Amino acid sequence: MSLLKKAAALFASSAILACHSLPAISAPVNQTKSEQTNSIYQKAKQELPGDWYALYRIIDRIARANNLDDKNWRIRILSSYQINAFATEVNLIGLFNGILDQLAGDSAAIACVVAHEMSHHTERHIALTPVQILEKKKQIEKEAREQVNEEIQSAKGDIVGAKIGGAFVSILGGAIGGDTGYTVGSLGGSAADTASNSRAAVAQKRVQEIIAQKEQEFALSILETTRRHEFEADEGALKLIATAGFDPQGCLRVMAILKNMPTAEFDTTHPSIPKRIDRLKSLIAENQTEYLVLRGKKELFESFPLTYNLSKDRLSLRINSSRGGDTGADIDRLFGQ
Ligand SMILES: [Zn+2]
Repeated sequence: MSLLKKAAALFASSAILACHSLPAISAPVNQTKSEQTNSIYQKAKQELPGDWYALYRIIDRIARANNLDDKNWRIRILSSYQINAFATEVNLIGLFNGILDQLAGDSAAIACVVAHEMSHHTERHIALTPVQILEKKKQIEKEAREQVNEEIQSAKGDIVGAKIGGAFVSILGGAIGGDTGYTVGSLGGSAADTASNSRAAVAQKRVQEIIAQKEQEFALSILETTRRHEFEADEGALKLIATAGFDPQGCLRVMAILKNMPTAEFDTTHPSIPKRIDRLKSLIAENQTEYLVLRGKKELFESFPLTYNLSKDRLSLRINSSRGGDTGADIDRLFGQ
């Protein structure tokens, strides 16, 4: 049985659902908070496969220490041996087995990977959808036609030029006003036809040139944005894990693994690893982590361990918000049974 199936079977047990409903409320009144916390974590360790348990503990700690426990997080482990992780959908974090394997035994490093992806979510670093990209391309084409129309309009020197310019607008389907109703026939004869067709071809070529240039600028701007997002997520991860009490150097240990990847030296959608390492080192040097640790400790002290369930997607572990994951129990608590 795969780990995932084992976990799914475990989660299907009503006993587990019951014991994880709002532990702070359901725990015996004579139990100290520390005893409640220990019993919840011990139970989680028994129920969850090893990596899921570790990731649950990491997210529980990061979310509570940083006031990010107002939402449900989801974590999914992918079986492929890739050295990678990602943020997608709503608050879903994916980790490949490869990165978990390479960082096994180093909870601060794995916390850094998780916190980096949490930062992508909290900072709303959301990639453009195919529909948005298509809309952008349509907008580029429209702008290119308008630009050519403007060029034609500004270049027209006489009334004939204006009429031919109008014909271009019509051929190119632009929206610029002018003599768009004027037909090439008005210029008279095949010579006018030839001149108009030739000018139309020139204008069309110019439109294509502008589209190519604008699309290149668009692609570059996306690359710049994604690289900036990576730096922001690295910085966010450092703060999140420091606040949760993990060693910030864990982020450098992640980079030590990524540095061995074939593309590490190059800027791709991500900045090169040496650049990220330099940035992280300077952030670690200038960050006042003592203050962050104190603030995190206070938040952890004042909150209870988060609960978890198998997500309704049946593939990921859902780490519930501080409200818990049982809507029925929430209604009972608010309005009585
Ligand atoms: Zn990232």
